[in-house]
Amino acid sequence: MLIDFHVHLAGSGCCHSGIILGKIFEKRPSFFFLKKSQKITNEQMNSDIDLIWIKRISNLIEESKQINKAVTLCLDAIYDESGKLIPEFIQMYIPNSWGDYAVKQFPNTLLHGASIHPYRKDAIQELEICAKNNAFLIKWLPSMMGIDPENKLCFPFYEALKHYKIPLLSHTDNEYTFAEPKKGWLKNNHILKLKKALDLGVVVIAAHAGTPSQMHEAEELASQYENFFLDTSGLFNPTRARSSLKLFEKSQASLLGDRLLFATDWPVPSFPLFLIDKIGLSSYKEISAIKNPFLKDLRIKEKLGFHIQRFKKNQETLLTLLGRSHTEINLT
Ligand SMILES: [Zn+2]
Repeated sequence: MLIDFHVHLAGSGCCHSGIILGKIFEKRPSFFFLKKSQKITNEQMNSDIDLIWIKRISNLIEESKQINKAVTLCLDAIYDESGKLIPEFIQMYIPNSWGDYAVKQFPNTLLHGASIHPYRKDAIQELEICAKNNAFLIKWLPSMMGIDPENKLCFPFYEALKHYKIPLLSHTDNEYTFAEPKKGWLKNNHILKLKKALDLGVVVIAAHAGTPSQMHEAEELASQYENFFLDTSGLFNPTRARSSLKLFEKSQASLLGDRLLFATDWPVPSFPLFLIDKIGLSSYKEISAIKNPFLKDLRIKEKLGFHIQRFKKNQETLLTLLGRSHTEINLT
């Protein structure tokens, strides 16, 4: 059984989903690219894109055969240090209630990736609700959400995550999809800022594995903490493709190889073109012919020497650390 740890929910707010698509994001090139690459019409934006989206993920996962579950990620709103909502900073808001609904619609293919801003006054209560709804993990995008993982406001939240044995999936290094709403927030993504959560015993997954520029620090953390994992999402695009080569090279010989988890970052596409010099023309052609985006991502990783069995082994290590069995999370 293989889990994709990093798949994005999205939508326009139709279908009573509660999703908010912010004006800042609607003007970004990444929004236009997404809409075009996913062939989303204006009519769908107004009618049922939110539902189409979850159905699409479920179908692609089913069709892939080799990937069995996708952790579908919510995205909480933005709050300041006094716990006050900052609505004008919202680029995309995907409520946990929608993530929960998606998983209940497709329990065989989706897992609940909830998102909670730790500065919220009700952060712990929300986590309790998410735990009851079988949240598989909590997702943060610190540069976009205005979360400093070293801020002491996060500490009670870390204690609660540890208590519920829910891992934290936090974005690391540069961010390209969303704007930095406030100058200085980008540094919130530094991988070493996750140290505090690790010290407090939270199982932490560094999204994008510290690529492109924080892999050295990633290795350092992997050697210091057994509760530290890295996801391999969003690697095969112009911003991270070259560093992904380094990541998979390093993972052959170092401890990093025992911590990498399978993840795609769908709908962010994987382009084998940027690795053609490494994988060769025939592999490039073979991979380009794969229609299923999840399978395509997996094949590139295998061509780079990281095989499905290793992802499965690392996933098992993580689940064991969390005291979760496969049957408990409906993985049989
Ligand atoms: Zn992502």
